[in-house]
Amino acid sequence: MMNVPLTLSSMMERAETYFAKKQVISRTSSGVHTFTYREIGERTRRLASALEKLGVKKGERVGTLAWNHHRHLEAYFAIPGLGAVLHTINIRLAPQQIVYIINHAEDQVLLIDDDLVPLIEKVKDELKTVKAFVIMTDKDELPETSLEPVYHYENLLEEGNPGFEFVKDIDENDPAGMCYTSATTGNPKGVVYSHRGIVLHSMALGLADTAALSERDVAMPVVPMFHVNAWGLPFAAVWFGTTQVMPGPYFTPKLLADMIQEHQVTLTAGVPTIWLGLLKELEEGDYDMSSLRAILCGGSAAPKGLIHTFESKYKIPFVHAYGMTETSPLVVLSRLKSYQQDLPEEARLDIRAKQGGLVPGVEMKVVGKDGKEVAWNGEEMGELLLRGPWIADEYYQDERTKEAFQDGWLHTGDVVTVDEEGVIKIVDRTKDLIKSGGEWISSVDLENALMAHEDVFEAAVVAVPHEKWQERPVACVVLKDNARGKVTKEELYDYLKPQFAKWWLPDDIVFMDEIPKTSVGKFLKRALREQLKDHHSAS
Ligand code: AMP
Repeated sequence: MMNVPLTLSSMMERAETYFAKKQVISRTSSGVHTFTYREIGERTRRLASALEKLGVKKGERVGTLAWNHHRHLEAYFAIPGLGAVLHTINIRLAPQQIVYIINHAEDQVLLIDDDLVPLIEKVKDELKTVKAFVIMTDKDELPETSLEPVYHYENLLEEGNPGFEFVKDIDENDPAGMCYTSATTGNPKGVVYSHRGIVLHSMALGLADTAALSERDVAMPVVPMFHVNAWGLPFAAVWFGTTQVMPGPYFTPKLLADMIQEHQVTLTAGVPTIWLGLLKELEEGDYDMSSLRAILCGGSAAPKGLIHTFESKYKIPFVHAYGMTETSPLVVLSRLKSYQQDLPEEARLDIRAKQGGLVPGVEMKVVGKDGKEVAWNGEEMGELLLRGPWIADEYYQDERTKEAFQDGWLHTGDVVTVDEEGVIKIVDRTKDLIKSGGEWISSVDLENALMAHEDVFEAAVVAVPHEKWQERPVACVVLKDNARGKVTKEELYDYLKPQFAKWWLPDDIVFMDEIPKTSVGKFLKRALREQLKDHHSAS
């Protein structure tokens, strides 16, 4: 067979050639704008030529700090089309982590949404490699800014070359994108996506038994484009000529419901918190959601009640999926097999609420503490190991590679059971992190901060189930003998506040006489989680 390289530019060329009239509907701060793929293709080429003029070279990284909109989509293709690497920066990271990842990736240029400029202005003096800032704005004038040199995105496009040729000498294994993921503690870890990985992952999104994304769909990725490339949807949608609806900045559940209704969205994707919010909106308002053929839900476990309500009350198929930044992300997706369709409703729901079965193309192993594979009986637990053509094989220039990548397998840090059908269910995680509304909070960082307080003897922070955010941190604190009864929660909150983003602060601080420990003296977090599991519902 021919060894034809799989590259991102061929995806955009396909959209320009065969789906020139299809549309991208993009909401920005000034309203909703519609572009055809012909226009998006031309703008992408103009952007690639402008970035080249700014001095971006093959293999170099260009960072984006942006919401889901057409300009970000253009960057998704222009940067790799130039042979450079698209580095999507998670705007919700702490400023010091944003500095770390920009310096670590050695970003040459940053493309920034106008409302996010202050985020970068605060840290600009710490950025070591950035040579130019490009502001993405609908306004004719640039906002007042201390960034320099600074360029207006639309002006650059105007001066750019609409006929720019995407670079041809690309090896399919060359890097096309990168994204950093939170570590248990310390700085985030970089994952690099190759052209080949993205193309194959896009193909997986089109398979009938996965997301079945097609030209007929109207896809609305709600998951941010700075979270694993909005789960790869924008790439696949361009390739397939799928209409895209991009919800833009600061959307509300009402806005999502309005956009679904108005643009007849057929498929949308996001974390459970988004769908819990939408559900509430649907209950309060009067919307027609009949165009939706699938809600993809992942990033955290989808509550069974959520799946049930969407399907039984609103007749919207709700598909639970699992993946990681390291896995592009789609690797596991929950679907009933043909012979399970007639099972009683409760049994079907039980299967669908699990994370699901492997997507074709990836392989798994579930390994117990003894290093042996567990039995597929739905009971034995082990760590999920994955490998496949869209799974990373290292962290970018990072020592921590050896912890997670061993013997050709990615060690996910997720503890699962597998049933007789090969369906996995996540039951725990070995990584000491808390996932709140799709974003990570490091329990270790909070613990270290608390234990640095002069009156705190020890502190453990655990994830406690939460109705809206899935998980929230609760801190268990043992005070030093002489501080007991004297130091208050409020004092500890005042101490934590300057050190962390507001959403990182524990929902509660529980004083204890002692923190349960394992035989080797580690905090027995499982026991604490069990003890606190009803904390929110009780409070
Ligand atoms: P991220 O790299 O931020 O996308 O996070 C990946 C991690 O999120 C996984 O390793 C899991 O711990 C968790 N995760 C993702 N999808 C699910 C899901 N459907 N159910 C439970 N946990 C999930």
